[in-house]
Amino acid sequence: MRGDETPLRVVLVGFGPVGVRFAEELLPAVDAGRVALTIVGDEPDDPYNRVLLAEYATGHADRDGLRIADPRTLAGRGVRVLAGRAAARILREAREVELDDGMRVAYDRLVLATGADATVPRLDGLERAADGSLTHGVCALRTMADADRVRDVVASGGRVVVLGAGVLGIELALLLARAGADPQLAHFGPGPMPRSLDRGAASVLVGALERAGVSIVPHTRAEAILTRESADGRAFRALVSSDGRTIEGDLLVLSCGVRPRTALASDAGLRTARGILVDAELRSWSDPNVFAIGDVAHVADPSHHAHDRDVPGGPSGLVGPGWRQAERLARAFAGGEPAPLHDEPPGIVSLKADDIDVVAAGTVPGDPFAPVPRGEPAPEIAVWADPRHGTYVSIATTDGVLDGFAAVGMPRAAAELSLLYQRRAELPSDRSLLLRLDAADALVPRPAGRDETVCVCNAVTAGRVEDAVREDGCESVEEIAACTRAGTGCGGCRARIAEMLAEWQGQPA
Ligand SMILES: Cc1cc2nc3c(=O)[nH]c(=O)nc-3n(C[C@H](O)[C@H](O)[C@H](O)COP(=O)(O)OP(=O)(O)OC[C@H]3O[C@@H](n4cnc5c(N)ncnc54)[C@H](O)[C@@H]3O)c2cc1C
Repeated sequence: MRGDETPLRVVLVGFGPVGVRFAEELLPAVDAGRVALTIVGDEPDDPYNRVLLAEYATGHADRDGLRIADPRTLAGRGVRVLAGRAAARILREAREVELDDGMRVAYDRLVLATGADATVPRLDGLERAADGSLTHGVCALRTMADADRVRDVVASGGRVVVLGAGVLGIELALLLARAGADPQLAHFGPGPMPRSLDRGAASVLVGALERAGVSIVPHTRAEAILTRESADGRAFRALVSSDGRTIEGDLLVLSCGVRPRTALASDAGLRTARGILVDAELRSWSDPNVFAIGDVAHVADPSHHAHDRDVPGGPSGLVGPGWRQAERLARAFAGGEPAPLHDEPPGIVSLKADDIDVVAAGTVPGDPFAPVPRGEPAPEIAVWADPRHGTYVSIATTDGVLDGFAAVGMPRAAAELSLLYQRRAELPSDRSLLLRLDAADALVPRPAGRDETVCVCNAVTAGRVEDAVREDGCESVEEIAACTRAGTGCGGCRARIAEMLAEWQGQPA
């Protein structure tokens, strides 16, 4: 409560995963009457875990499993939830937000958690209506409405073309293959995940994808779509690449990256770069009463970069850093000690897929045999490749410390490398020790160190999971998730948690 005993009026725009976490963390202050919270969210659905949309779209998860908040429960606790309505304008002088129906909501603090939109590439023949919808049979995978489109095609046995072989495109293609949708994964350039994988890792991954039932169409510079007449008007028939090849299907899913939704902020004169520019306290560079979190927030230090034309960094596009921002900001608004702002650990890219392990980080290791210009130090690169059995590791180091690595089909080596990378620790001089971790006779997992991060999304350590089991009496992965939040983001750590649980309970994993 402020000095005059009136609650602080907080307006949150955006009710995605990060907005939800902010609201949850602010609830005690709402309960105590210190904060009056209004949430404006433009999606018609109850908030859902966007991270699991591909699982839902392909029938591997149901809608209930994606639900992350119940607006009725929030309303019951005094939060005003304005769902299915968009914030259209910020009137900064008046400290009001105007909604698309003209209603105005006053604020003391405005929090923008407007997230990101899927990037739609320019393709001849592809039309975009005023409401943002694309030619029938073409969509991205960013919203529940997109996922429902994919789900309908999968259910009717249609063929899906996925354009873009970044992590999300590959994960979707694998799930489509599991659902029997005969996916074709078309991508630019020679190999998938070009920003993370070297040529060897990419080709071992391609082999694994093909074995899993994904057809790969490399070197696709997508130029146009062909359409057919359908009951819904013109509908997608084929993707055309610049060399004239056509890739036929019933649905085209665009997986070509995302763009933070900054228009609301920039129209109000707030400074933006890759996202809305905020300082370490998540406060807008341009207005002390406006904050941004999640996929739309570009955190940078104004004292260093205020005059830069190109401000370095940008939103991570990952849910974990957004959740930590939400927690930090809610705590600051509730009058608590603001949590110290830790630097996010250096990014590790991993594929969430049941039967293909791909993990990479840092500099993409180059060719160990590439000629070195005279006078330059030879790069320290080590490579292990067994394409026939789908395993590959490449490691780039300087003075024994990892600059980057790529690992396919070697989950334990990848876990160890991830740890060494994040700790900037020195590698064993005999690199082959790492390979032994995935050997058949080394199947028993090493006990995790207590400070090892198990759930990257929620930053939950092995120690916290162990306490949940030994002290809080959790007996299942679900109970651990409810107690610690571990496993409630992308879910990629659930198998590891089950393994740890089995080990502590003295059972086989
Ligand atoms: C298929 C898929 C898989 C993913 N997998 C992973 C993963 O494995 N790991 C990971 O870390 N991340 C993953 N992500 C990314 C993750 O989903 C995002 O980082 C996360 O959703 C960001 O949350 P957010 O709340 O900041 O933004 P968003 O989720 O984009 O939510 C923003 C919300 O604000 C609403 N909004 C925007 N403008 C307005 C307005 N003017 N008025 C009212 N409401 C508005 C939007 O409609 C939306 O509901 C994945 C994303 C997708 C699509």
